[in-house]
Amino acid sequence: MSYYDEDYYNEPSEFEQQVDAFKESLLNAVKEEHKAEIERLRKENAELQEVKQNLESIKREYNQKVAELGIQKNNLKNEVRRERLLELMGDFKAELFSPRTKWMSGPKCNKCDDKRRIPFLSPSGKEMVEDCSCKNNILIYEPRTNICSSFEVRNGKFMAWYKSYSVDRADGMELESLGVSDVAKFIWAGEKFEDIKDYYKAYFKTEEDCQSYCDWLTDQESNKVKS
Ligand SMILES: [Zn+2]
Repeated sequence: MSYYDEDYYNEPSEFEQQVDAFKESLLNAVKEEHKAEIERLRKENAELQEVKQNLESIKREYNQKVAELGIQKNNLKNEVRRERLLELMGDFKAELFSPRTKWMSGPKCNKCDDKRRIPFLSPSGKEMVEDCSCKNNILIYEPRTNICSSFEVRNGKFMAWYKSYSVDRADGMELESLGVSDVAKFIWAGEKFEDIKDYYKAYFKTEEDCQSYCDWLTDQESNKVKS
């Protein structure tokens, strides 16, 4: 068969048939491959969606854990602060008692009237009155309540300020508007009353102890009068 043989061009040669068959099988193969590829991609996409969803839930869990840890951290911080404060505060009391003086009248004498006043005439002849010496002639001591008005930690030391408080004087009043505050430097811890230098600087944890000291102070005053 010559290369220029017409039949070679007009009639499909075996070679051409083979080429066609090959083309078709190639096309089918490509289609199959394409289908497989699409299938693979679909599968991969589904897997990725699952991964994405897992990732979202992991993210959510993570954020939740972070938030929980934040709360735990703050709780722990507060706990440490509270413990430290309690340690610093020691046996801190919000209320302390201290002695205060009060004048009282002893038995009435016979020189004065019902209100313990004595009438007299002024140099110009005017009628006047004066308090009798039997009025408010006895000095007594009684416990006064002091309330912690503020506190702070200075140089690692707990300090508290107290303000005197009595229901009749301060009822309904804000603590801020009550007089001056004082740091309770001396809080009685069983010392002898004789050894307390300044009675007005002494603070007591219980009203009973303060009362005992007040009774002792009152006794000292009456001894002064007697002597
Ligand atoms: Zn009198």
